[in-house]
Amino acid sequence: MAVQTVASTTTDSVDLGPAAALSCRECGHRVPLGPVFACEECFGPLEIAYDFSVNSKADTEELRGRIEAGPANIWRYAPLLPVPADVATKPNINPGWTKLVQADNLARELGVTGGLYVKDDSGNPTHSFKDRVVAQALEAARVFGFTTLSCSSTGNLAGAVGAAAARAGFRSCVFIPHDLEQGKVVMAAVYGGDLVGIEGNYDDVNRFCSELIGDPAGEGWGFVNVNLRPYYAEGSKTLAYEICEQLGWRLPDQLVVPIASGSQLTKIDKGLQELIKLGLVEDKPYKIFGAQAEGCSPVSTAFKAGHEVVRPQKPNTIAKSLAIGNPADGPYVLDIARRTGGAVEDVTDEQVVDAIKLLARTEGIFAETAGGVTVGVTRKLIENGVLDPTKTTVVLNTGDGLKTLDAVAGTGLTATIRPNLDSFREAALA
Ligand SMILES: *Cc1c(COP(=O)(O)O)cnc(C)c1O
Ligand SMILES: [Zn+2]
Repeated sequence: MAVQTVASTTTDSVDLGPAAALSCRECGHRVPLGPVFACEECFGPLEIAYDFSVNSKADTEELRGRIEAGPANIWRYAPLLPVPADVATKPNINPGWTKLVQADNLARELGVTGGLYVKDDSGNPTHSFKDRVVAQALEAARVFGFTTLSCSSTGNLAGAVGAAAARAGFRSCVFIPHDLEQGKVVMAAVYGGDLVGIEGNYDDVNRFCSELIGDPAGEGWGFVNVNLRPYYAEGSKTLAYEICEQLGWRLPDQLVVPIASGSQLTKIDKGLQELIKLGLVEDKPYKIFGAQAEGCSPVSTAFKAGHEVVRPQKPNTIAKSLAIGNPADGPYVLDIARRTGGAVEDVTDEQVVDAIKLLARTEGIFAETAGGVTVGVTRKLIENGVLDPTKTTVVLNTGDGLKTLDAVAGTGLTATIRPNLDSFREAALA
């Protein structure tokens, strides 16, 4: 076996493949795998610890071969995820292996000469990157015996939970701010689970869910992004794995990643570090850039001010999927941006809309507002000389424009004509 799981000091009674234990990100305290998310010593966040080791080049090549022979979805990376080895045989919506689009037209517009790629995660089953994280949480929920899947959501997560629960035969009950985009609401409701609108913003919804977990009313519920968060979060590593494999097992030089809670960005970094450690990619520097909307920019504000803590904000932006004013992983994002030599930047709602149109017009990709944020931030970072246009750059599009049609309202018919040639000539389109 190429990847070995060295028995941890804890007694693991659950089968989650290569996962060894939960480990505190602040103090390193280890506890057995279970549906817990905060350290009993210091209240720090818990994350999955693996004891990966490859002992030789042959081990690395065997692992690479196993991955390449795997299914065209996230389960090709099962040897690196907290899931049992037979995960691919369970009912699951099987996200991942989305397109890495070589964006030459966009590169020309932005003056990028070193290679520009869009990792287009709108291609997932419910049209956002959230299917990756929910797939992990679902497997953990199965192992821990939960029968109801739940979450607090800015929209995309609600749909991903609804769909995953439907296919796996779980009940679902998810919570969203009451005023989300219609596309997100319908997309979450159509799978038949319960969808509850809360009068408040995402941070209110999240606080409510934390209360529900501690209450008998929430007993037996797996909240994918609360009590299953350590498992959920690992799903984002698959973005890093796929990007590198699709580049021919190469690290990109620069990545531009959107930030809501910051979980995705931190786990992309974790995934890249693992690939280096396992010898699957060459050990060389890469830079991670975080992207926010100006109307909800607590992390970029802290980055620019040189702060180590993130001061909460009250969100007000069209990029609702990223509208988390009190991002749980904010300080870790700051660490990663600084350690890798990246940055965190924000753009206005107007720049988000312009960027959505730019990506659509140049590459035929219709991104949701979060994609407008990353493309807009990429453009701004190039203009400011922060992002190097001569280096290989990957920009994430994490969601589908069909869910945020209002953002581009006003985009529509070029002309309306009567069904005859004279009328067409009058419109002067020929
Ligand atoms: C949830 C989400 C993100 C990022 O979420 P994190 O909380 O930072 O992991 C990015 N894009 C879209 C479209 C999302 O729905
Ligand atoms: Zn701790």
